[in-house]
Amino acid sequence: QSKADGKGRITHFSQDMEQRLLERKALESDLREALSRNHLEVHYQSLHNSHSRKIEGFEALVRWKRHGLHTVSPAEFIPVAERLGLIDELGNWVLREACREAATWPSDLTIAVNLSPVQFRTDKIVQGVLRALSDTGLAPHRLELEITESVLLEASAATLSTLHQLRQLGVRIALDDFGTGYSSLSYLTRFPFDKIKIDRGFVTDISTRASALSVIEMIVQLSNKLGMITTAEGVENEEQLRTLQAVGCTQVQGYLLARPRPAEDLLVKEQRAQGASH
Ligand code: C2E
Ligand code: MG
Ligand code: MG
Ligand code: MG
Repeated sequence: QSKADGKGRITHFSQDMEQRLLERKALESDLREALSRNHLEVHYQSLHNSHSRKIEGFEALVRWKRHGLHTVSPAEFIPVAERLGLIDELGNWVLREACREAATWPSDLTIAVNLSPVQFRTDKIVQGVLRALSDTGLAPHRLELEITESVLLEASAATLSTLHQLRQLGVRIALDDFGTGYSSLSYLTRFPFDKIKIDRGFVTDISTRASALSVIEMIVQLSNKLGMITTAEGVENEEQLRTLQAVGCTQVQGYLLARPRPAEDLLVKEQRAQGASH
């Protein structure tokens, strides 16, 4: 078909649309199946004390090997789960799995679990967290829930009430990917977070953009004043780590320290005995 042919273009266009629609439908049904057949997995990435490099906890990151083969990024399938109304089920599964795993670790280690903004549309999440804790026996103070600014976009009374209810269970609340959204600072006045996670983007640019370093310094100072601790995400080299230590960032996380790994590869006790970082 000639490109100049208007009709041909339309045919191409609709074939393309149809193709994409089919792919989307396939992805959706595969995800439903993966969820119902327990084909999802949780990997864990360690969080380290910035100065001693000692492991202080882990973040749970969901994984999906589609057809048991290629890994689909959560950045791709979490939105699909949200759209299909599967995120509550998926989120609760990750939560329980992560709590069950963390309950087997030394009791000073924490576990962080990411929550989708969609899980905040009702207060069902409070029951989900309560059940995960009581079913696994994990002490509430060891569980940290990571939320993004988008949870607070509306900052409705209902959302804030849900956050306070979660806090009352004794769990900690962290603000993830801080600095990427808009009007970030205003969110800090709406809820007393326990922790702020500085977005990887700032860490990546720390030694090449003076402004990135300034933003990090500002976040750390502000967090200190507000009684929150800071974790820097995406630390990939020693220079970044040194700078983060120098500005007083509390915790670091990133490929320099460790990549996310399946639970059976963590060897939590052995690592801690050696005081090693990976
Ligand atoms: P996030 O919560 O900000 O997680 C950090 C992401 O950065 C993870 O990607 C992690 O593997 C990656 N990362 C860690 N260190 C480094 C580093 O040094 N360099 C680079 N380049 N990347 C690093 P992942 O696992 O692909 O997850 C992507 C996002 O998907 C997460 O971002 C989180 O928003 C979401 N997600 C993951 N698991 C869950 C889950 O169980 N529930 C929900 N609702 N969202 C999840
Ligand atoms: Mg996170
Ligand atoms: Mg993050
Ligand atoms: Mg991030």
